[in-house]
Amino acid sequence: MLEEKIDALNRIYELYGRYTKTLTLACRKYCAHCCTCNVTLTSLEAANIFRSLSPERRAEIRRAVEPQISRKRYQPEITLNQMARCCINGEKLPDEQIDPAWGPCPLLSDNACPIYDLRPFGCRCLLSTSDCGKTGYAEVDDFTITVNYVFLQFIEHLDQPGGFGNLSDVLTILDSDLDANTPYPPQARAGNPRLIANRPIPMLLIPPEHRSGVIPLFNELNAIVRPR
Ligand code: SF4
Ligand code: SF4
Repeated sequence: MLEEKIDALNRIYELYGRYTKTLTLACRKYCAHCCTCNVTLTSLEAANIFRSLSPERRAEIRRAVEPQISRKRYQPEITLNQMARCCINGEKLPDEQIDPAWGPCPLLSDNACPIYDLRPFGCRCLLSTSDCGKTGYAEVDDFTITVNYVFLQFIEHLDQPGGFGNLSDVLTILDSDLDANTPYPPQARAGNPRLIANRPIPMLLIPPEHRSGVIPLFNELNAIVRPR
């Protein structure tokens, strides 16, 4: 059932929140240079957003993202777990284009996120130790990049047989009429070429020097995701 998956997702978010509390970050309210139209999410995260909003708020979200469908935005060709599979098989990765100059996130309003508590992991992991507004780029330590990959891989694994894509695409495609009895995965609207299928974790993307540091987080993620 959808509720079980959403419960696991929120436990993962909570675990990541505990990790980020250990970091010293420049991120603060109304700092939104990282909120671009290129942000991605899984179908489960979209369901989590819709599940928590009133019908009126869902309609507002839909109205905000729909115009973005005709604009330039990052549309991933493969998921992170597919990428890990390609690495194992020695296959070439697609040459994807992504440019923050394509514009802000269509949900951004007065430099604030209207769904902040529900924002997907792709937004939660946009962090910086220095002010991006001054430097022009985010600064993130290598270990946190590894942690982000591990969380993204587990979230994708959890959301099988769901899909992954650009925020505007997924929020437009997914049926927003969700309730406690909605089966999993929630119904997608007909014709969804912009969603790519989530895959199981074939291998975690952890460099050798980060393995021992990641183990406590890995064990907690495994306990949340594996029994499902
Ligand atoms: S990642 Fe950069 S732009 Fe985003 S909140 Fe943090 S400091 Fe601000
Ligand atoms: S969903 Fe919210 S946090 Fe994520 S990019 Fe859009 S405005 Fe920013």
